[in-house]
Amino acid sequence: MPHLVGKVMDSHLADLFTLWRAATPEELAQAETAGRFDRHRDHLLVIEEADGHTRYRHYGRSFTLHFGKDLTGQAIDALPSDVLTPGRRGILAFEYAYAHKVGKPLWRSYTAQFDDGMRQTWQRLVLPAGPGRLLVGAYDVEPPRLIDTGSAKGLLRLVIERVPVVLDEAGAVADLALSLQAFGDTQVQVAELEVLASRDPLTNTSNLRHFHHLAGMELEHARRMGRSFALLALDIDHFKRINDSYGHAAGDSALKAFAAACRTALREPDILGRLGGEEFAVALPNTGAEGALVIAERLRRLVEELRPPLSGGDTLSFTVSIGVATCGPDSYPGIPDLLARADEALYAAKKAGRNRVILAEG
Ligand code: GH3
Ligand code: MG
Ligand code: MG
Repeated sequence: MPHLVGKVMDSHLADLFTLWRAATPEELAQAETAGRFDRHRDHLLVIEEADGHTRYRHYGRSFTLHFGKDLTGQAIDALPSDVLTPGRRGILAFEYAYAHKVGKPLWRSYTAQFDDGMRQTWQRLVLPAGPGRLLVGAYDVEPPRLIDTGSAKGLLRLVIERVPVVLDEAGAVADLALSLQAFGDTQVQVAELEVLASRDPLTNTSNLRHFHHLAGMELEHARRMGRSFALLALDIDHFKRINDSYGHAAGDSALKAFAAACRTALREPDILGRLGGEEFAVALPNTGAEGALVIAERLRRLVEELRPPLSGGDTLSFTVSIGVATCGPDSYPGIPDLLARADEALYAAKKAGRNRVILAEG
């Protein structure tokens, strides 16, 4: 296995890959029963295309334990949405179709976020196994294996986490699936689905769910690297008055102008999300209290100076209150805890007269 891939790929998957390379077509055609893949059986899916459906021929026990359902024999496009949301289903279907099409191994890691706030990172390897047939191995990687520090390597982790990697027969990176233009319409549709499921349509910022997901990944990264991390909770002041005085449409344009202004003032890796109504949050990777206060104050002033136009030539003006919470390098609470602390500081800012920034204690 080439240096880089060998270092980052989970060792079970690296083993599965080695077995796959050595397997005969007959063994691949009977992977669910052939002895060669025995030690991966619980972590293996065998997927076959038949009569226009893609079905799970074999559904490893670890998946049953994980999702609480045995899906052997089920078509992947008929899965219940509590097992697989329509968005994720589209991505899976796409991945399988793509692996069939290129006839090459596809490898990616992904982070699953659960309702109870638990998060788990998995790695998957999709292996062609003859016409209309795929083997998929998946292992949870806790803690995720990662080459240490350095911005270039950090970037690699993100790329691998979000983009399927196409491997050649020897296990070297042949391409990044998303960099290929060969996806056609399905790819564009899947990408659009993914965007729709993650964006707030009015302000084009991350929605609540997606914000938690992205911020959670960054926080996890900060924890592993021992870096500081900050969260801002923002709430527009007296927003109800804007709606009451100028109408809901004016309120909407205020929200749009607000989000656009924030975006211009933030750095590339900062994550802006709309938590609901006129409440937003910003995750600031690699930022301590001092830096977070500077950024929050910059946002506050920027909003104060905004003058989005109203119909009829008038302009609108409003202000924002901001609560700041930081963590690291000694302790890292979860995003919900950190957000609760930022919210408390935000509440204090409202009580103290609004249009100000307050840092949470602790
Ligand atoms: P405070 O300074 O204490 O935050 O006061 P506020 O008026 O901003 O807060 P409040 O929570 O009382 O009111 C929020 C308002 O935001 C009420 C709701 O109608 C409005 N709102 C929520 N979502 C939207 C939206 O998408 N568009 C518009 N135009 N208004 C919205
Ligand atoms: Mg509010
Ligand atoms: Mg408000």
